[in-house]
Amino acid sequence: MKIVYSERFLEHSFPYHPESPERLLAIKQFLDKKAEFEYIKPAKLSEKFLLAVHTERLLEELKMRSQTCSGTADNPFAENTFEIAMLSAGAAVQASKHADELAFSLARPPGHHAGRDFFGGFCYLNNGAIAVMHALKKYSRILIVDFDVHLGQGTQDIFSGNDSVFYLSFHQDTGTIYPWHDFPIKDNTTKLVPLQVGTTDGQYLKIFRRVFLQAVKKFEPELIACSAGFDMFHSDRLYVGTALRIERHETFKEIGAIINSVNLPGFAVLEGGYGLETLGLLVSNFLEGWQG
Ligand SMILES: [Zn+2]
Repeated sequence: MKIVYSERFLEHSFPYHPESPERLLAIKQFLDKKAEFEYIKPAKLSEKFLLAVHTERLLEELKMRSQTCSGTADNPFAENTFEIAMLSAGAAVQASKHADELAFSLARPPGHHAGRDFFGGFCYLNNGAIAVMHALKKYSRILIVDFDVHLGQGTQDIFSGNDSVFYLSFHQDTGTIYPWHDFPIKDNTTKLVPLQVGTTDGQYLKIFRRVFLQAVKKFEPELIACSAGFDMFHSDRLYVGTALRIERHETFKEIGAIINSVNLPGFAVLEGGYGLETLGLLVSNFLEGWQG
């Protein structure tokens, strides 16, 4: 399996922000113990790649905010923010090119909350969507499976009405957590699976297995793209008692194994996951299960 990584991702750094460089370091420390991973660099992208997904207006806004360092609490900007966000998208594209042997983009900032014409939720550009759009040149049907605890409303927005891309998301009910809303479903290639507060490992895996396998059977994808978030783990949550009850590290191995069981090319991009003590183990478990 290939891991796409660059130390430049560590340059995207703001004091006290949970989406921190330490996240990647915690994961890398864990993965470095294993011999089976080969590290490769992100692809260099032209803006053409970004414009296949995002509006020109959004790109201009991101560039302007980088120049003036004018951000929000969730999405702070420094002079290099646009550049590093583009590199993170390049990592996803690179991972998609190695889908035959499976590849993981160990990159940040994450992407799934960035839509066609908006950014938010720590995301600037939708890395996974940019890679999927590019991969459509090679694969005619792509299934995105998103298991971050938060709905990827940006990804939903981007692929709404696109029959070549199936967006399947397992997330905590948006009535109880960010982004606090979803978009109305207008096609047969979007499936949102909201999970209620208190959902346990066993309940989660049962639903995940059933709905994922159903979607693969119905849609017959040629490629699986994973929006891999690790923030549904119980100790990741800020508010204990209003979250999912995913308590077993092995659950992530099983999620990987279920995705592996359909035997299709695939790539994964890192989305959320903020518990620095457990993040490395959870990612490592997912990759182990996915690799088979
Ligand atoms: Zn998340």
